[in-house]
Amino acid sequence: MPDDPKPPAPPAPANDAAPPTAAGACPICGKPTELKYRPFCSKRCADIDLSRWLNGVYAVPVDPRDEEDEEV
Ligand SMILES: [Zn+2]
Repeated sequence: MPDDPKPPAPPAPANDAAPPTAAGACPICGKPTELKYRPFCSKRCADIDLSRWLNGVYAVPVDPRDEEDEEV
């Protein structure tokens, strides 16, 4: 059975004057994302997010009773 030839997807208008948010905005401060530190704008924001994430993990108490059935 012959494959139905479909035209390639039209390329995104990357050269258009797209708003910074199109390329990605830093979730910390909202500045345009820097490729080197994406999805953040800088290492500082990346560190901030990392620390938030770690703090969040540590802040969430893991209830051992949840895994009581998995005692091995
Ligand atoms: Zn930032």
